Amino acid sequence: MWPSRRRTETVTCLACGDQVRRSAAREYDKYGDRWNREDKTFEHCCKACHRELCHLPRNELEGLLVDLEAGRHDTDAFLDAYLTEVERRYGRLEEES
Ligand SMILES: [Zn+2]
Repeated sequence: MWPSRRRTETVTCLACGDQVRRSAAREYDKYGDRWNREDKTFEHCCKACHRELCHLPRNELEGLLVDLEAGRHDTDAFLDAYLTEVERRYGRLEEES
C-alpha cells in the first residue's frame, strides 16, 4: 500500500547508486518523455548525475546510431563521429545552467 507520509521516501540513483530523498531526486524516463505519466514508473537520478545527462531529444537516436554504423568502429572513432554528427544536426551542446 501507500508508504507512510512520515517516512522519508528514498530512491536509488540509477547512475551512481546513491540513495537520495525522493524529493531531492529527478525523475528519469529512458524514452526522454517525462511529461506523459500514465501507467509509468520512473527511474530516478540524483541531482548531480541528472546534471551530467545529455538533454537532447532521443527520438532520433536509433537512426543516428545506424547512420554512424555504431558498433563497427572503435569507441574513440565512433564518439568523434557521433559528436560531430550531433553538432551538425542539432547545433552545439548547451550546458544547462
Ligand atoms: Zn547519482
